Amino acid sequence: VAGYLHQIKANGHLNVFNEVFDEEARMRAAEVDSRIKQGTAGKLAGMVVAIKDNICYKGHKVSASSKILSDFTSIYSSTVVERLLAEDAVIIGRCNCDEFAMGASNESSYFGPVKNYADNTRVSGGSSGGSAVAVQAGMCHAAIGTDTGGSVRQPASFCGVIGFKPTYGRISRHGIIAYASSFDQVGPITRSVEDAALLYGIMAGTDDYDSTLSGEPVNMKPVLADNSKKRIAYLQESISSPGVDAEVKTSLIDYIEKLRRDGHTVEPVTSEYLDYLVPAYYILATAEASSNLARYDGVHYGYRSAEATDLTSTYKKSRSEGFGKEVKRRIMLGTFVLSSGYYDAYYAKAQKVRRLIQERTKTILNEYDFLLLPTAPEPAYEIGKGETDPVRSYLADIFTVQASLAGVPAISLPVGNNSKGLPLGLQLLSKHFSEQELLNFSEYFL
Ligand code: GLN
Repeated sequence: VAGYLHQIKANGHLNVFNEVFDEEARMRAAEVDSRIKQGTAGKLAGMVVAIKDNICYKGHKVSASSKILSDFTSIYSSTVVERLLAEDAVIIGRCNCDEFAMGASNESSYFGPVKNYADNTRVSGGSSGGSAVAVQAGMCHAAIGTDTGGSVRQPASFCGVIGFKPTYGRISRHGIIAYASSFDQVGPITRSVEDAALLYGIMAGTDDYDSTLSGEPVNMKPVLADNSKKRIAYLQESISSPGVDAEVKTSLIDYIEKLRRDGHTVEPVTSEYLDYLVPAYYILATAEASSNLARYDGVHYGYRSAEATDLTSTYKKSRSEGFGKEVKRRIMLGTFVLSSGYYDAYYAKAQKVRRLIQERTKTILNEYDFLLLPTAPEPAYEIGKGETDPVRSYLADIFTVQASLAGVPAISLPVGNNSKGLPLGLQLLSKHFSEQELLNFSEYFL
């Protein structure tokens, strides 16, 4: 803990933490030490973990990196935090993220962007940008993020670490600040596949507070490198599309060739729905967000405008002053696609498209063990670039949203750096509930 605290302090300019639980982490480490001596310590004894600031931890602030919750203290712990603590993890602090997890560069945070440790002028990725840099910069052993449309995987790829999003319905969302509930998933960000598997195994499984969880037993075993020959599909368009960075393409092509040399079957698949992935995701995610964020009204939670004089002005002014630009844009988009007259044209249509994407993904993953594709079309870009053009930054989610729409597990694996020293990531998708197989095979890339 002392070592990590030192590293956090030495790199304060990266803006990784919204709060560091300094004294508390030291005390807890001492308690865990004594349990280790007594032989009664849990499976995570010695593991120092950072959590994204949209994960509730009783008695601690949780802000979702928004002004509207900047002074809000959680009165209960999320199920994931309870499970981590029950196994003796030490939680070192809460990490900066995009406001309400909306974004892919950590630039929408009320507390400012997180800087990439590999190049301080570049973004960390997002929305779990603080969590990814915390691991990248050695400020903790592992971090917990949330992934709605790529927010664990994409920052992991920008930071050269592992980001794992399990099957939808595996990890409880109880105590996670909701963005888009039919997509939101908790996932670990780590340096090793073993750690991802360990944390996943502890966090996953049924919970009385989240009825969307599967009853299928988790049964996670330690990862074992899988040397059997696999059938792997790769997305043809990720190589043929002009929108994908040349070095990202090369890293994918190199792996395709290596996999073939090692006796695996690797074949291209095309996606007739590629153009619809991002629009379907943004219609559904913003619709759900507009509903989930209705609760921040200046009355129930958090920030209330000092200028408010009556109920209507309390709502209007608290929300106008409390939410940032990107969150407002999404509330308006979501409200629009759900409004009468537009519902069928946008929301209902996007749900149908989601079903088609789910079916197509299932067909591919029935025919192949894994689907291989880049995590992001380009490596970490310069801070400021994402903010100027929201559509451009939405389109950059092209490779991550498929797993989110389909609800299948996906992992981003670090596969080296480009010529500028920026980390690159590749992504593997697998069948619903095949986390063990996915993590076992992930070892191949490391
Ligand atoms: N970039 C995507 C979005 O802004 C994904 C964010 C996330 O997974 N939380 O919605």
